[in-house]
Amino acid sequence: MFSIPFNIPYVSGSEKQYVLEAIEGRRLSGDGPFTLKCQAFFEKRFGFPKTFLTTSCSDALEMAALLMDLKEGDEVILPSFTFVSTANAFILRGAKLVFADSLSSCPNIDPDEIEKRITPKTKAIVIMHYAGIACEMDAIMALVKKHNLFLVEDAALALDASYKGKALGSFGHFATFSFHETKNISCGEGGLLVINDERFVKRAEIIREKGTNRSAFFRGETDKYSWVDIGSSFLPSDLLAAYLWAQLEAMDEIQSKRLALFDLYYKDLSALHDQKKIRLAPKEAGKRTNASLFYFTVGSDKERDALIAHLKANGIQSAFHYQSLHKSAFFSKKHSLSLPNAEKFSDHLLRLPLYAGLREEQAEQIVDCVRDHFS
Ligand SMILES: *Cc1c(COP(=O)(O)O)cnc(C)c1O
Repeated sequence: MFSIPFNIPYVSGSEKQYVLEAIEGRRLSGDGPFTLKCQAFFEKRFGFPKTFLTTSCSDALEMAALLMDLKEGDEVILPSFTFVSTANAFILRGAKLVFADSLSSCPNIDPDEIEKRITPKTKAIVIMHYAGIACEMDAIMALVKKHNLFLVEDAALALDASYKGKALGSFGHFATFSFHETKNISCGEGGLLVINDERFVKRAEIIREKGTNRSAFFRGETDKYSWVDIGSSFLPSDLLAAYLWAQLEAMDEIQSKRLALFDLYYKDLSALHDQKKIRLAPKEAGKRTNASLFYFTVGSDKERDALIAHLKANGIQSAFHYQSLHKSAFFSKKHSLSLPNAEKFSDHLLRLPLYAGLREEQAEQIVDCVRDHFS
């Protein structure tokens, strides 16, 4: 139905070869050679002290929640404009979710709104870098220090993005990435837990291996392998890591294609922004995006839906994004909350197709269609 779909997952061409290698090597469970290669890649390229491949970003978030030893009644401050997993991981541990509003200029969490919600029960701040555009890291780090809190970065959309030259994912005690089919680099379903605080490395290894010291056993550090802590199975098959490795080898190519398309959209739509027909994401010094998505906002939900319909009528699939979690059926049946900026981004935001296989002339066709709608 769509001549230009919203997303087509990138395939580098080497995936088949590496998956075949994994099959022929007869080493299919977790922590095989491809997993180790992928983890080493992330640590070298982004300077992360320790990384663990996980079955998803959701699972990496759940590991972070386990590592923080959250207890019933502990409070976690998080954005409402985010994916449901950012919240589930913490509520699963019995923590109380405290939603904070977005900035008015962009969907990222507002540090002033975080500060207002800090109480003696606050244990952690969870942030999410929307569109691979960094949150206000100086202000957030100051709060984390001042109140001695944990920081978790949900960096699912932020692989290869940075803040003042430092990779996103290296600020929090914990950071998580996603390799879901819809992300820049993917293996269908997959994730990564980054541990920036060495104190948690040993326990992370145990929690990821069903609460056992299996990894230490295989390294010869202990003569038995047994149950030592709570945990679950958070490690992906090496078959998935083999697929992911092919994607990582192509990362520079994927990123340069996406960034070129992002720049094309941004430049060609800036006239509509100047005429106040649409509002582009702010470009701020020191925040380098990874082109994980291209979004803008319009004046109302009706306008947004009309533009989606106009694009659809022209064979182009566009999409809105997160519905604010405080307005979800699950949360709103118990709590009534108003977070006007988050609600605005849920209602007014629209994303255009952006993927490495999208041709420049297709992007231009999409821009023309948006312009045509407003003329
Ligand atoms: C995609 C996404 C997730 C979930 O990732 P999975 O790997 O599918 O678990 C979490 N948070 C954000 C912000 C995301 O965009």
